[in-house]
Amino acid sequence: MRPVVADYIETLSPYVPGKPIEETEREYGITGAIKLASNENPLGPSPLAIEAIERAARSVHLYPDGTSYHLVRRLAEHMGVVPGEVFVGNGSNEIIELLIRTFTTPDDEAVICQGSFLMYKVALQSHGRRFVEVPMRSGYRYDLPAMAAAVKPRTRLVFLANPDNPTGTAFGKAELEAFLSTVPPEAVIVLDEAYFEYVDWADYPSGLDYFRRWPNLVVLRTYSKIYGLAGVRLGYGVMSAERCGYLNRTRMPFNLSFLAQAAGIAALDDVEHVRTTRETTHRGLRYLERELARLGAQVPKSYANFAFTDLGRSAGPVYEQLLRLGVITRPMNGYGFPNALRISVGPGSQNERLVAALGEVLG
Ligand SMILES: *Cc1c(COP(=O)(O)O)cnc(C)c1O
Repeated sequence: MRPVVADYIETLSPYVPGKPIEETEREYGITGAIKLASNENPLGPSPLAIEAIERAARSVHLYPDGTSYHLVRRLAEHMGVVPGEVFVGNGSNEIIELLIRTFTTPDDEAVICQGSFLMYKVALQSHGRRFVEVPMRSGYRYDLPAMAAAVKPRTRLVFLANPDNPTGTAFGKAELEAFLSTVPPEAVIVLDEAYFEYVDWADYPSGLDYFRRWPNLVVLRTYSKIYGLAGVRLGYGVMSAERCGYLNRTRMPFNLSFLAQAAGIAALDDVEHVRTTRETTHRGLRYLERELARLGAQVPKSYANFAFTDLGRSAGPVYEQLLRLGVITRPMNGYGFPNALRISVGPGSQNERLVAALGEVLG
């Protein structure tokens, strides 16, 4: 008899998200738990986006605009590109799936970085696509020359996260330019910039400066992080109009809800929310880096809104004990880092509570 699913589905490990607050409180019989596990915005959603969602709620009996006309135009204006170069998706995760579906066949291969964002792997495997995982170099950094060397004639897709999740490290302009110049144009290079708004580094390469010179470059961004709209599901990509056109053929007709479109337009105007989020995050990150080092952990410099925390010992028991104290972090064993936790920057008081709890557990 034929198996129910293909082998690549049978062996697929599902993506494990951060543990929800409610579930943690129920399981451990506690209240007042805090979650520093999913890189969410500690200040909550953009207030302008909340207002827009409330207004839009009155029209949800209607199907949304299937082309997201106004949102695409507003994003294009915001980034200084033309609307035909902007693709919007139900979170950037949807776009990752669509890129695989649209630009690869079962004979093609992808190249990814070992220990980087797990969704690339999950999405590739769920489509039955083969992939090569290239190890990081020291300091938890992408090894771009090794990744370029792993690109073969059958490679059609490469995923790069900059800054990386979960390590928070980033690569600079010269590294990216050398990579783009080496990889043949048949391979689509996906540059995932989910955290670019947090980066405070003059050498950080914005994909927008490169996608016209290298038309095989696709830049991904999201509203889930700095805009605090992870629950709305809204991401976008910038790429050649030709590639956008293909994605528009393969996507579902109403991939963005009416509420998401309204929120996305309004959030771009919320300069104040973005500014305070950046400031709060940078302050929290510097505090965490200092305090985690004091507790003996190793934290590579983070360009994002979380601290990759190498405890130098098995992190599983530490994660469990933190849960008992009502502090939810993210264990990294699924990424191949059994000694590490990823700790998202929270509001000031929550960072202090994390440090106190971790001190108690390690002490
Ligand atoms: C959070 C994150 C995303 C965002 O995904 P959405 O589907 O837009 O919520 C994408 N890529 C990376 C590397 C991330 O960390």
